[in-house]
Amino acid sequence: MSRVYNFSAGPAVLPEPVLKEVAEEMMDYQGSGMSVMEMSHRSPEFQKIIDDAEQDLRDLMNIPDNYKVLFLQGGASQQFAMIPMNLMKNGVADYIVTGQWAKKAYQEAQKYGKVNKIASSEDKTFSYIPDCSNLEISPDADYVYICENNTIYGTKYKTLPDTKGKTLVADVSSCFLSEPVDVSRYGIIYGGVQKNIGPAGMVIVIIREDLITEDVLDGTPTMLTYKTHADAGSLYNTPNAYCIYVCGKVFKWLKAMGGLEEMKRRNEEKAKILYDFLDESKLFKGTVEPDSRSLMNVPFVTGDKDLDAKFVKEAKAAGLVNLKGHRTVGGMRASIYNAMPKEGVEALVAFMKKFEEENA
Ligand SMILES: *Cc1c(COP(=O)(O)O)cnc(C)c1O
Repeated sequence: MSRVYNFSAGPAVLPEPVLKEVAEEMMDYQGSGMSVMEMSHRSPEFQKIIDDAEQDLRDLMNIPDNYKVLFLQGGASQQFAMIPMNLMKNGVADYIVTGQWAKKAYQEAQKYGKVNKIASSEDKTFSYIPDCSNLEISPDADYVYICENNTIYGTKYKTLPDTKGKTLVADVSSCFLSEPVDVSRYGIIYGGVQKNIGPAGMVIVIIREDLITEDVLDGTPTMLTYKTHADAGSLYNTPNAYCIYVCGKVFKWLKAMGGLEEMKRRNEEKAKILYDFLDESKLFKGTVEPDSRSLMNVPFVTGDKDLDAKFVKEAKAAGLVNLKGHRTVGGMRASIYNAMPKEGVEALVAFMKKFEEENA
C-alpha cells in the first residue's frame, strides 16, 4: 500500500487512523456481526453512532443548547434553496458575494424572494474579502448570507460582517472545524462534510432553534423543511448512515488531537510554511491579498499556463496529487485541510523549490 499526499479541495484527505479504524470495523462493527453499511438506521447500534457523533460535534464546537445539529443529504448546494425557503419570512435577504459558491447561493435565493448583493469582490476576481464593517443591511432582510471560506479562490473572512442585528447564515464547507468558532454569532452554520470532515454526501446544519418553524414558503417540500429533520433527530428518512459513522470517527480523532484550538495552531503552522515560501519565491506567487488568505485552500500560479501544467504533472509523479487549480481559475491550488499532515506541506514546498531551480 502506498498513500500519496492528496491536496484535493474535496472530496479530500481523511485522517489515516480513521480510515484504518473503519477498515477494521468493515466486516463486523463492534460485535454486531455486520458493517455499519448494512445496519438499520433504526437500530440501537446506529442510534448510538448518531448520538455520539452529535455530542462530539457539540463538544468540539461548544454548540449552545438552543441550536440543533442536523445531518442532511443534498450536499451544501441543497442549502442554497433550503435556507431561503425556510428563513424568508419577509421575502428579503442580503448576500455578500465572495466567490462562486456564494454566487450560486445568491442566484438560487432569487427564485424565492428579493435578494440584495450588499458587497462583492468580483471586481478583482474574488481575490479578497470586502470590508464588511459598515454595510447597507436591508432593514427588512430576513438574514445576511456569507460563504466564510472560499474554496476556489482561497479567501477567508478574518472578522465576521456586522449584520446590524440580522441573522447571519454562513457556508463553512471548507473551513468546518479548522479553528474554534463562536456559534452564537450565527443563525445557521452549515457545510458539506467532504471538504474537511468526512466522505461526500452529507451536509451538517447547525441552526438556532427559533429559525426552525412551520412557517416556510408555500410549496416547500417536507424534505426541505428544517423542522421535519429537527423533530426527527435527522432520522425522518434513511440518512447517510455510513457518512455519519465516519464523521463521528473524525470528531473523535479531532478531540484526541486536542480539539479546535490545537487544529487552529496546526493549520496556521502548515499554512505559514506554504505562504512564506510563496512570498519569497521568484517563480510561484499566491493569488490572494495577504489579509484575506485562507488557512485551508491556497491557490498559486507561475504566471505561465504551460509551466503550471508541467508543475501539476511532475508533482503528481512525485506523489503530490490534485494540485490543479479549479477549472474556472486555472493555476494551482493546495488544499491543506485538518487531515493533511505538516509533512505533506513540507514535501510540497521542497518540491516547489526544486521545480523553481530546475525551471529558472
Ligand atoms: C464544495 C462546496 C460547496 C458545494 O458542496 P456540495 O456538497 O457539492 O453541494 C458549497 N460551498 C462551498 C464553500 C464549497 O466548498
